[in-house]
Amino acid sequence: KAKTLTLNRRGTLRMSCGKMESESGRAAGDVHGIGEELVGKMVYDALVWCSLHGLVVGDRSVKRSGTSPGVGMVHAPVSLLPVSFPESYWKQACELAPLFNELVDRVSLDAEFLQDTLSRTKKVDAFTSRLLDIHSKMVEIGKKEDIRLGLHRSDYMLDEQTNLLLQIEMNTISSSFAGLGCLVSELHRSLLRQYGEHLGLDHKRVPGNPAVSGFAEALAKAWSEYSNPRAVVLIVVQPEERNMYDQHWLSTNLREKHNVRTVRKTLAEIEKGGVLQHDGRLLIGDEEVAVVYFRAGYAPADYPTEAEWSARLLIEQSSAIKCPSISYHLAGTKKVQQELAKLNVLERFVEKKEDISKLRKCFAGLWSLDDAEIVKDAIERPELYVMKPQREGGGNNIYGDDVRESLLRLQREGSEETAAYILMQRISPATSPAILLRDGVSHKDHAVSELGIFSAYLRSNDKVIVNDQCGYLMRTKVSSSDEGGVAAGFAVLDSIHLT
Ligand code: ADP
Ligand code: MG
Ligand code: MG
Repeated sequence: KAKTLTLNRRGTLRMSCGKMESESGRAAGDVHGIGEELVGKMVYDALVWCSLHGLVVGDRSVKRSGTSPGVGMVHAPVSLLPVSFPESYWKQACELAPLFNELVDRVSLDAEFLQDTLSRTKKVDAFTSRLLDIHSKMVEIGKKEDIRLGLHRSDYMLDEQTNLLLQIEMNTISSSFAGLGCLVSELHRSLLRQYGEHLGLDHKRVPGNPAVSGFAEALAKAWSEYSNPRAVVLIVVQPEERNMYDQHWLSTNLREKHNVRTVRKTLAEIEKGGVLQHDGRLLIGDEEVAVVYFRAGYAPADYPTEAEWSARLLIEQSSAIKCPSISYHLAGTKKVQQELAKLNVLERFVEKKEDISKLRKCFAGLWSLDDAEIVKDAIERPELYVMKPQREGGGNNIYGDDVRESLLRLQREGSEETAAYILMQRISPATSPAILLRDGVSHKDHAVSELGIFSAYLRSNDKVIVNDQCGYLMRTKVSSSDEGGVAAGFAVLDSIHLT
């Protein structure tokens, strides 16, 4: 309190941390109450910090920024201060990570479950259909993945009404921001070391974030399981990637900490330069590939021609370790998420009752569009639902009145297309005041946050080598926005201050 008063006298801070804390139990302080002068200083320091520490992305306004490193960099969109988050929920999310890792692995082994679950979607969604075709081919030739690597990110929101931590989705392909996410935690710690006392925030309450080292270590261990010290990790990338620094943090860590080399190629380049040896080894140029790490290939736009599909097939047929394999990819689809939420389905894959109930506790309401009662309710009260197609990468979901219209249209057309979507209970997290930084400009707004927990899983036959959470990513978006993608321009990167 005394500190607040001192600052009030200086006229730089108008806030009462104590009050906010006791009222909501969430916000450690009303960041909108911080005086302009202090905000200005912190914004300046944050922008310098980002530039000096590589918390950067390619600048949209510079043409080559997505292809040439070192050209047209801008600080990543970030929140100025970490968002308050209850420690118990954070721990809960971390504890769920190894359970979801194991679940994905189990589901991936059940080819019939994957094919059955997606069989109707296959008829109406060309993209999912192509993925399933690759999967079927692997089943036909009896392809086995003895060494399986998952680098996932499970995303959650804290539902205000029920006080439950509910899962938004599980990402099993191209889980991004391990690299930049760590840096945001460091940025916030650095700011709080300097200004925290004035703000009533303690830098030690921002948990350490080992996301990039955790991912790199799992990749390195997978590489080492492959047992060829000359082989490389192949990173599959998009031809243009403004989030390349997030990826470079990972490859740099691999090289410097683990002495593992990486090669970056697009699917088109892999189609041209990739060779499958008779024994199944994958070569790119004259380098043997130990691990294929996908940072592309999750969206239809990643396959503009047949060349990209044949590259994906080539990789899948090879003996390289895939992160993810086609089965892991499919296990992360929204339709599978919805199927797993049905009664008695988890029981097929998870033995321990205790684990089942932990998993189930974080499941939001999930329904197929065959559920007439739910569809009727969603038409009447669309604001309570989100309609999701089988897509990744943000910007694909349907909200609000569009839910009603889309459902009515599907009903009118009596079309099979319903199988392309799922319905999900709309989760409403509490809003809190935030200061968002984008393009060097700060913006005060009310915001909601989504917590992602990174996790790594590596297994060789019966031996589980890695199964753990490894760091987190908070994403914060203005509360009036439906979607949450950072790259898609909806959200900023954030970290957490535990309460
Ligand atoms: P994607 O794979 O494209 O990221 P998501 O399921 O994560 O798809 O949805 C994108 C965004 O939409 C999320 O980051 C979140 O902000 C919002 N969203 C998704 N599902 C819900 C939900 N059930 N309730 C509220 N918001 C949601
Ligand atoms: Mg996703
Ligand atoms: Mg998402």
